[in-house]
Amino acid sequence: MADPQNPTTIDRKARIKIPYEAPPARPAAERVKDFRETFLPLTPERAMREAGRCLQCPMAPCVKACPAGNDIPGALRKIEQGDFLGAAKIYRRTSTMAQICGRVCPHEQLCQCACVRNKNHEPVLCGALEAFVADFERAQNPFHIQPGPSSGKRVAVVGSGPAGLACAEQLILQGHAVTVFESASAAGGMLTYGIPEFKLDQSIVDLLIEDLRHAGVEIRTGAAIGKSHPVDALLRDGYQAVFLGTGASIPTCMQVPGIDLPGVFPPDEFLARLNNDPAILPEGWRQPLTVGSRVAVIGGGDTASDCLRTAVRKGASQVTCLYRRTETEMPGGKKDRLLAAEEGAEYRFQIQPIRFLAGSDGRVSAIECLKCELGDCDAEGRRRPIPVDGSNFIVEADTVVCALGYGANPEIGRTTRGLAIDKNGLFQTDPLTGATSRPGIFAGGDAVSGPDLVVSAMAAGRRAAAAIDRFLHNADT
Ligand SMILES: Cc1cc2nc3c(=O)[nH]c(=O)nc-3n(C[C@H](O)[C@H](O)[C@H](O)COP(=O)(O)OP(=O)(O)OC[C@H]3O[C@@H](n4cnc5c(N)ncnc54)[C@H](O)[C@@H]3O)c2cc1C
Repeated sequence: MADPQNPTTIDRKARIKIPYEAPPARPAAERVKDFRETFLPLTPERAMREAGRCLQCPMAPCVKACPAGNDIPGALRKIEQGDFLGAAKIYRRTSTMAQICGRVCPHEQLCQCACVRNKNHEPVLCGALEAFVADFERAQNPFHIQPGPSSGKRVAVVGSGPAGLACAEQLILQGHAVTVFESASAAGGMLTYGIPEFKLDQSIVDLLIEDLRHAGVEIRTGAAIGKSHPVDALLRDGYQAVFLGTGASIPTCMQVPGIDLPGVFPPDEFLARLNNDPAILPEGWRQPLTVGSRVAVIGGGDTASDCLRTAVRKGASQVTCLYRRTETEMPGGKKDRLLAAEEGAEYRFQIQPIRFLAGSDGRVSAIECLKCELGDCDAEGRRRPIPVDGSNFIVEADTVVCALGYGANPEIGRTTRGLAIDKNGLFQTDPLTGATSRPGIFAGGDAVSGPDLVVSAMAAGRRAAAAIDRFLHNADT
């Protein structure tokens, strides 16, 4: 008889016959009415059935495709047997935030893309299963992080996004005292201030932060490190090591006439003012943001899809994405694009905005654009957009979001002597350890890679924590 504990006895033919079922989602017409999550949780029966579709491939391509290296086949074997806590334990070995990654990872580009069953576009739903077991575990017990015996060492973590939180978790497990310094009013980084609730319920982020606090991690919000309190002051204050997880959250600005018109927003302000409690926003963002009826979002990444989907939920009747290239070159994930399109957003391609025009009330009312053709490939292999002279046309819009990407936060690079940064202001580190050019200072996440993913930032935070632990031990010898 096939023993699901032993992959060599797995009856693959029987497993192949278990039919694919699409992940359960709320209908578009229903979900556009609120900000609740798009995907529905799996039931225990459905989770066990879904896990039983895994072929337990010996080479486990899904594991190789996971930036955290989660043992997906191992966890799925446990789920199949109904041992959900056992599966959650397996995720915990490599992941600080399975509840979050199960929701926000672009699984269709990572583990599910690599799944051999994806050849027929019927991958095992690794993401939904990860979220299911992590939710199950959290419901049984909200607190999972057990601090190790005190090492007597103190570490400062700067930034409370996925990189900082994962680093803090791993350090407290080793018994080091951890203080997280966060410049914003609330912890979580982009988990709190970027990713909208229809992708990730904020209560899940709050529970992770609560778990860390409960384990003894001190999280100081409204505590910016930089000019008034530099990294070197942290070292003088008695922290023996510092981790920099400061992200890359400075929006790229369009240099076109009319960019300052009322009604034209950068994506961070647009998303934060529409998704967050005003109490945790900077003072200038606390008044309500009124979304017009015709919203244009410029850009082709995931942030653009999030802005489109937010605008739909705020009642805009015409929500349009304007992108310079074609859909093939779009950097954002297809899943989010399909969801946005299902919810009523329209994507228009090969369009370059060149000017924002004001209406009689002084607010933006239209965008002058040029059509684009595609030229040769750029350094990243994407074909260059070439605006066509004389192809000018107008797109009417009373709210515009320029979602063109994000750059590094410059404060720490500017205020820390001897810290190597690249031409984009990103920290230069050893990729295996996160060690920077300054002994005792480590970095990871978007602040090193540039804008990337939650899972990569988390994995970088964990790698750096392991290196910090070694650094602290070596300091003793
Ligand atoms: C709108 C949006 C949607 C996204 N959606 C997804 C998604 O669906 N899936 C996915 O995988 N990824 C998504 N991402 C990307 C993901 O959120 C980031 O890659 C990830 O959060 C990076 O983590 P981090 O810890 O490096 O940085 P961040 O999450 O940016 O956290 C950095 C933290 O450092 C703080 N900080 C900065 N400077 C200082 C300082 N000097 N002193 C103290 N604190 C400081 C910041 O306030 C911030 O809280 C999205 C990003 C955005 C913007």
